[in-house]
Amino acid sequence: MNDKEILHIIKTNDQDEINSLFSQACKVREEHYGKNIYLRCLIEISNYCKNDCYYCGIRCSNSKLERYRLTPEEILNCCRAGDKLGLKTFVLQGGEDPWFTGQRVSEILSGIKQEFPSHAITLSIGERSAADYELFFRCGANRYLLRHETASSSHYETLHPSTMTLANRKLCLYNLKKTGYQVGAGFMVGTPYQTPECLLEDLRFMEELQPHMAGIGPFLPQKDTPFGNLQPGDINLCLKMLAMCRILLPRSLIPATTAMETIAPNGRELALKAGANVIMPNLTPMSAKKLYSIYDNKAAGLPEPADNLLKLKEMITGAGFLPDMSRGDAK
Ligand code: SAH
Repeated sequence: MNDKEILHIIKTNDQDEINSLFSQACKVREEHYGKNIYLRCLIEISNYCKNDCYYCGIRCSNSKLERYRLTPEEILNCCRAGDKLGLKTFVLQGGEDPWFTGQRVSEILSGIKQEFPSHAITLSIGERSAADYELFFRCGANRYLLRHETASSSHYETLHPSTMTLANRKLCLYNLKKTGYQVGAGFMVGTPYQTPECLLEDLRFMEELQPHMAGIGPFLPQKDTPFGNLQPGDINLCLKMLAMCRILLPRSLIPATTAMETIAPNGRELALKAGANVIMPNLTPMSAKKLYSIYDNKAAGLPEPADNLLKLKEMITGAGFLPDMSRGDAK
């Protein structure tokens, strides 16, 4: 797709055109992954964060938020619960919490690997040194999610304090790739000051990086942040971006994100129909899950993980896809 075509899709409201984009995206996904939708066990390990991203509810300046951190034993217990349900990927996500030193993260990884040697472990704990990334990889982490958030550096500066730079974010992504991880990048749709040209840059950056995974979701306001009064991103634009991402990165693993489900009651199903092929049921203990409030009204799913998984599988099947409980590495 050339720049003009991409910008046209970003701006169009023509439903025929949009439907044909979605069916093209589904065709591309089917060529590589069939109708399979991979399931992951998401564990939100901490809502402490040293960063101050203007959009994010767990930013360090949010003094209204009650903070929590799972203990290594609690994290392992979440993995056990996920394994019992048949999930074969553990995704450990959290704020940039200094308690999780390189040493502590390695011990946690080693503990999980010892008990679940054939499962995949995905980390999503932000920007770290190249040495930490190498250490975690040696200790058994297989994948790493680090959204670039926006590929326009001037736009990046409007969303983050000056201590954070797009250049460092990109450096981290390239370091992760070099280390051997399956890497996930991605961006929010509808953040303040975003233009169609920003979104074009996002897709071009994804093409350049060639990540194995691509996380795309709408911006959603969180009331105790500087962007708390702003409008959320548009679900239709989000779905169009997801579909274009699928077409440009045919073999990527693209989640139907919780943010999609938060903005529309059937948001995840719509994402599957636009080219997504991953769903991450959240197995964080309920009390902690509520406090991982990166945005307001986060879709929580059913309280009992087994019920929740069953419901997700029914949704997947009902939408014409096949739930897949294997590790689901990138092809
Ligand atoms: N600290 C980790 C994990 C952050 S949370 C990291 O830096 O990667 C995971 C993702 O949630 C972020 O990458 C961001 O894209 C998204 N997010 C944060 N605040 C959000 C908001 N208000 N609306 C929508 N998505 C948000």
